[in-house]
Order: sequence, then structure tokens, then C-alpha cells
Amino acid sequence: MDPSETGVDAATDQDTTIVSDVATAEAATVAEKVVAEPKTKAAVAKKKAPSLTVRNPSTGKIIAELPAITPEDVPGVVAKGRAAQARWEAIGAKARAEYFKKLRTWLWDHEAEFTDTISREGGKPIEDAFYLEFVYALSALDYWAKKGPGILADKRRLAKNRLFVGNTVVERHVPHGVVGIIGPWNYPFVNSIGDAIPALIAGNSVVLKPASKTPLTSLLIARGMREVGFPDDVFQVAVGPGPVGSAMVDNVDMIMFTGSTEVGKGVAKQAVDRLIPFSLELGGKDPLVVLDDADVQKAADHALYYSLVNGGQTCMSIERIYVDTSIYDEFVERLVAGFDKVSYGDPVGGVGTVEVGSMTVGSQADIIAEQVADAVAKGAKVVRGGKKVEKADGAIYFEPTILTEVTHGMEIVDEETFGPTIQIMRVSGTEEAIRLANDNQYGLAAAVYGKDLRRAENVARRIEAGTVAINDSLVFWAELQLELGGWKQSGAGDGRHGEVGILKYTKTQGLFISRMPLKRMPQMFPYGKTSGSLKAITKLFFRLPG
Ligand code: NAD
Repeated sequence: MDPSETGVDAATDQDTTIVSDVATAEAATVAEKVVAEPKTKAAVAKKKAPSLTVRNPSTGKIIAELPAITPEDVPGVVAKGRAAQARWEAIGAKARAEYFKKLRTWLWDHEAEFTDTISREGGKPIEDAFYLEFVYALSALDYWAKKGPGILADKRRLAKNRLFVGNTVVERHVPHGVVGIIGPWNYPFVNSIGDAIPALIAGNSVVLKPASKTPLTSLLIARGMREVGFPDDVFQVAVGPGPVGSAMVDNVDMIMFTGSTEVGKGVAKQAVDRLIPFSLELGGKDPLVVLDDADVQKAADHALYYSLVNGGQTCMSIERIYVDTSIYDEFVERLVAGFDKVSYGDPVGGVGTVEVGSMTVGSQADIIAEQVADAVAKGAKVVRGGKKVEKADGAIYFEPTILTEVTHGMEIVDEETFGPTIQIMRVSGTEEAIRLANDNQYGLAAAVYGKDLRRAENVARRIEAGTVAINDSLVFWAELQLELGGWKQSGAGDGRHGEVGILKYTKTQGLFISRMPLKRMPQMFPYGKTSGSLKAITKLFFRLPG
């Protein structure tokens, strides 16, 4: 959890929108349009407005200063979304999907600006922005625009109950109204806009609160939507800290939250209090199991990449590795050999420079350092790395790290780490691997490596996680037909992707259309003399199972 999210930033003058380049300048313009009411000079002089400073975490440099909103502004933002929603719903899902096809073209044309914005606000390599966000974005836009209208279409069927022969039932999906989406900082497209796409195609308007560290991607997409002609106010970006998110839960009709388990539980309590539907995608501590027949080189290469990609700041990062004792030494040796070719630092040089960028939220490095210290005190061995690094410009890194001799009972094995660390454990056989993989509070995702696919699948089926990959790891997040959702402390409510990933943004209405000419059905009043024979006839109707 980012501690700077707990309060509104220090107030500054409303007209201090200073940005360092074209992308963020345009983003800031959108922010002003979206969240800030026009103010006269006199009003500005009287009242200081909240603002948000966005830094590139890998250099410490300010890249944008944006006007923000306060919790008091939220009802007004939601009201605008509500006013826009009815017409958006009325045009139908196919017409809404057409807007997203245009957005795809826009995004394709703006790939460099998109990946650069994500890289700079997150302090991550362009490769991470490209493969994990841009490729996802195209896949998501394609999937929802193509499949969404069909999934949302009315389902009209003949009645099945023998008493209602000839009648029709219709299941229809009605948008909730205004959906609030609250996102984290680690993947500003995937975990924010990625949820907004199905919510909008389902006919809702959306108010999106991005994490304060990474609002620029959302603002860039808002600009794209404006440029391709989306109607005003169907998609609004609410720039502001945590309390703005809390105020959204108090005002919207459905809430989609992605973030820490701690904050997510608070959001759920608030949502239950209002009886609005909610969906939570929360923390993880994903295990990777390497069975004795695994391709050791492949497993080691994958374990390295899926532990360190995006600096390990992925909910579905591999955070615990269980290797069968028969191949453990070879696995560690191969993983270390690959690790020694990995570099970390400021990704400013662009493609092909570093594999691991900075910590997006500097304070997370202190949590990781504490976890490493706790592990070492309990007997873990630091094979590589292990230290927080603070650069002169204020940028904070954590050295990519390998730990062995780790055990359950250490914080770095039991708690989410969310950084570039690799924890490797030796296990004796499949049963021990499964037991230990399941011995954790989280159940987001997992991976199993083994050449015998039937056996590996059987192991996967016994792992307590919402998604389990076999001979691969978290790539399934970009396979949109597959539902993803966290078990245990990793989530609640319907997951993302798959049919449920769009239907959750709707409420279902059933229509029962009676076409039978009967004036009186057998169950109706008066019971009287005919009651006995009607009952016997009805019984005949149901005599055989069907
Ligand atoms: P966080 O919980 O601190 O913040 C998430 C969002 O919630 C931010 O936009 C924040 O401003 C907002 N927020 C803060 N306080 C709030 C409140 N009281 N009410 C409503 N909103 C509030 O999480 P983070 O540090 O931004 O993200 C990292 C966490 O997110 C990790 O635990 C990670 O595992 C999790 N995550 C999960 C998934 C998933 O799909 N399961 C994906 C990405 C990240």
C-alpha cells in the first residue's frame, strides 16, 4: 500500500499546471477538463486547490503537476457521469463497441507515446510497457469490441417448466449506471482502463480513479477517447488520493477495485453498507512449482523473468519457488547464470537498456529490505543483491535479489513482497510442493512446470489459486477469454475477463412472457371442487423425469 495515498496533497495554486513534455501537457489539459470546475482568477486567489505532482520514479524528476479533486467534488463528478449514461446505454452495445474499435486505431497510432508515458510514470523499461500493457491493450480492445455485444445480448428461450409450455423467458443485462473503478500504480492500463473497457461496453458510464503515482496513462486514454469522439462524461478520470476513492464508493452504483488486500477490505465494507455490487482484485504471493521431470532450463528462465518483470511489482509475480530436490542444484545454478545477465537502473536509454527499473513507490523498498533482513536473521542466504539503493536524484531502487534457504515463517515467504526478489525453496516430492504452495493467505495465481502434462495438470488442479499456468506463468492475464480472479485473500466478487468480466458490470433482469391462452392455471383460486382433479392432472404432467 502506498502511504502517500492516505491524504490530499498539500494545496497549491490552481494554475500551477507545469509539465515537462507534450504527452503530459496534453494529459494535464484533459485532467483540467475532466476534474476541475472552471475557476475565476478571484476564486483562485481566495481558495487554494489541491494538486498532484507526478514524478518519474527512476529519476526523481517531476513530469507533471495536475489539478486534483477532493472527496467533496466526487458527487458532482458522479452526477455528470449519471447524466451522460442514459444516452450511452440507449445507443446499444454494438454502437458502443464501434467507439472502442476507433480507440484501438488511435492507440496503434500512439504506441510510442503510450509506452513512453507508462515507462516514465512507472520507472519501468519500455519493454515492460510494450509487452505487458500495449499488447494487452490491443488484445483487450479487440476482445471486448468483438465479443462484448454478443455476451450482453438478450437470451430468449422457451420456458422449460411443464406448467408453462409455450411461454418465453428472456434474460437481459442492464448496466448498473455509474461504475467506479479504482486502480493501483503497477499497471496503469491493465488494471484501470482494462476494467473500464467492458464496463463502458456494458452501457455504464465510468469514473476512474487511478493511483496518484500513475495518473498519466489514464489521462492519455481519456484524451484518445475524446479525439475519437466518445460522448462527453461517459468516461471521467478523477485525479486524487485515497479518500477520493473512498468517496467514489459512497456515490457510484458498482465498484471495481484493484489494489492491496488491506484497502480492498475497507472498500468492500463500504460497498456492503450501501448494498452495491463490488469486485476486488487484491494482493498475491504466487508460487511456482518445479516438478522433478521439468525442463530445468525453461523453468529457470521463466522463474527469473516472471519474478523480476516489472521489477517484481506485479500482483501475479512469482514470489515463491518450490523446486524438487532432485533438480534443485541445477535449477539454482541455471537461474543464477541467467540472473547475472540482468541489469537494473534508469530505463531512460529506451529499448534494450535495463531489465529492471526503479521502485515505482519508493517506500516499498523499505518493506522489502525489512523482509530480507527478517529472512537473513532466520537463516536465509542472500545469493545476489539484497539491498535498497537510493540515488542522488532521489530515485529508489532495490537490487534484484536471489535468496535461498528460505522457509515458511519468514515474512518474505508469507507476505507479499512486490519487488525484484526471487525466493527459492527445496522440496521433497510433489505432495510437499503442493502443501507448501497452498500454505499461504493468498490465492491469486500459480505456475507448475513438468514435462508430463497430465501429471502437471493434476498438480495444478490441487493448487488453491484463481488461475494456474502449466509450463508458463502469468501470461494468461492477456488471454481474455479466460476468467481471472483471486481466491482466499486475493479477491472477492466476479473476476475479470471471460463472460463474467463484462456481465459483472450489469444487473440481470428476467422477463417472463406468458403466451398461454389459459385464463386460469391449475394452481390458482378458487381451490374448491375441481382442485383434486387439477392436482392429479398436474401430477401426470410431472410423472416422468425430464
Ligand atoms: P493500494 O491499495 O494502496 O491502492 C490502490 C488504489 O486504492 C489507489 O488508487 C489508491 O488511491 C486507492 N485507495 C487508497 N485508499 C483508499 C480508500 N480508503 N478507499 C478507496 N480507495 C483507496 O494498492 P497499490 O499500492 O496502489 O497497489 C499494489 C497492490 O495492488 C498490491 O497488493 C498488488 O498485489 C495489488 N494488485 C492486485 C492486482 C490484481 O489483479 N489482483 C493487480 C495489480 C495490483
